[in-house]
Amino acid sequence: MKGYKNLLFPKHSVFLVTGGAGFIGSNLCEAILNLGYRVRCLDDLSTGKQTNVRMFVNNPNYKFIQGDIKDLDTCLRACVGIDYVLHQAAWGSVPRSIEMPLFYCANNIQGMLNMLEAARRNNVKKFVYASSSSVYGDEEHLPKIEGVEGNLLSPYALTKRCDEEWAKQYSMHYNLDTYGLRYFNVFGRRQDPDGAYAAVIPKFIKQLLNDESPTINGDGKQSRDFTYIENVIEANLKACLAPKEAAGQSFNIAYGGREYLIDIYYSLTRALNKNIEPLFGQNRKGDIKHSNADISKARAILGYEPEYNFEHGLNEAIEWYKTNL
Ligand code: NAD
Repeated sequence: MKGYKNLLFPKHSVFLVTGGAGFIGSNLCEAILNLGYRVRCLDDLSTGKQTNVRMFVNNPNYKFIQGDIKDLDTCLRACVGIDYVLHQAAWGSVPRSIEMPLFYCANNIQGMLNMLEAARRNNVKKFVYASSSSVYGDEEHLPKIEGVEGNLLSPYALTKRCDEEWAKQYSMHYNLDTYGLRYFNVFGRRQDPDGAYAAVIPKFIKQLLNDESPTINGDGKQSRDFTYIENVIEANLKACLAPKEAAGQSFNIAYGGREYLIDIYYSLTRALNKNIEPLFGQNRKGDIKHSNADISKARAILGYEPEYNFEHGLNEAIEWYKTNL
């Protein structure tokens, strides 16, 4: 079955979304509320936004806890009465992680470990968490397939690999069903276009809308498996219904396509009707040239059938930014 809108959970299910004030987390909260279930959002608003909380606060099925996953007591309180945890809270960005290794270790690894422990002590049914394609490191084989990983290229990637290893331990020793989702370059509504660490699609859209010239790092011939947010929501919700035998494992979550940055750039200028040439800058440290996912494992085990190809997702994203920026 494509998509997630017909998925059924037990009637009084309660979900906890950590990082629910961020891009992916707020989209998860919205999808769960639209399906009619209750959702609790735990976020410290460090990179997330008040506006992503304010849009739901009048919904009686939504509860916001402002708190930090680095604090175990906060995690324990957030997990009381929870059926499914969708753990998204972490700091992203490869270059920032190279600047701040200690913070990334505390936030992305110790924070995740606190959440695993809190989920275990509260008998949570399923613990689904955000991993990343960065765990493939310098492995050049394409498409990327689970089990063939290379040397890690950044502290951020290391945090995600550690998270996967901790999740495995919690499945192995403490009977907690964990499922790691290796997201590949997610994009869509509410992704932050601002700041030095912003992702390319929202950043370029905003710059083009403001008649500024975006800078492409490198020659633009790098490729990525850009994944629309709707596909990521589907993966998270389907992972909550995954078989117990698959616990402790990780899955590529992407569309399974390959888009070149320079082509995306010109698709955006055409769609926005802008005749602006890009600037070219340095390659970024810790970046790989190409990335593209084999998604057959997620298809086979989670029943993941991504509904949105890149073009469909990009058109929706552009429309959203045109009216919301
Ligand atoms: P985001 O920055 O928009 O959201 C992350 C949220 O987590 C923010 O709201 C932030 O305030 C919150 N947070 C961070 N540290 C916290 C802490 N200590 N306690 C409580 N809340 C905290 O990022 P996103 O793009 O939505 O990413 C969500 C997850 O997906 C992250 O784990 C990220 O590493 C992972 N991921 C994202 C992508 C992508 O392309 N966006 C790709 C691979 C993996």
